[in-house]
Amino acid sequence: MGLEYLVIVFFFGLATGIIGKAKGSSFWIWFLVGAVLPILGLVAVVFYRREKDEPERQCPQCLKPVKLYVQVCPRCGYDLYLPDPRAVRHPGVRG
Ligand SMILES: [Zn+2]
Repeated sequence: MGLEYLVIVFFFGLATGIIGKAKGSSFWIWFLVGAVLPILGLVAVVFYRREKDEPERQCPQCLKPVKLYVQVCPRCGYDLYLPDPRAVRHPGVRG
């Protein structure tokens, strides 16, 4: 546990935090993850996906917004088949 270790941990934390922030998450949370788990934290943040980027639609029965990949509504158990394209919203896409 020398100075080199601290420097490595710091830069892993920094890189992980920057990527996490670029993905819309908290810099400091990812900084800590990257510093506590160097390499693993960095891998985690690279594969981390923003849930709000997933296209979503409304359940026709209870009107709960659910992700497009959800096949059964978690609130009312309604079977969700392929959605009407007009009903699909892309919250991560502007315009
Ligand atoms: Zn429902």
